[in-house]
Amino acid sequence: MKKEKCYMCEKGTLENKKVDFSLHGVVLGKFSAQVCDSCGEKFFDETSSDLIDKAAKEKGLWGLEADTKITKTGSSIAVTISKQIANFMQLQKGKRVHLHPENKNKLIIEVASS
Ligand SMILES: [Zn+2]
Repeated sequence: MKKEKCYMCEKGTLENKKVDFSLHGVVLGKFSAQVCDSCGEKFFDETSSDLIDKAAKEKGLWGLEADTKITKTGSSIAVTISKQIANFMQLQKGKRVHLHPENKNKLIIEVASS
């Protein structure tokens, strides 16, 4: 079998392997992928991608990512969290979250433990 070069680092060669795939922290299962022996990048073919999509839909993880607009409430501003994300993260009104700006373009919202 012909060894393909990695599309990412262009140094390593790709090997067919079964790899774990997780989405939003939930493991969806093992899927066949080509894995680079140098940078570790994984490439999924169309069949694997379809299987991953199917598993994600079955676990209710599909369409969780969303764009939203910032609104104003009093002197603060607010971000609206979609119902899907709220359900997935078990968020409801009054729940305490911790805001952690990772950089000027990324804000992490962490659910407080109690
Ligand atoms: Zn690579």
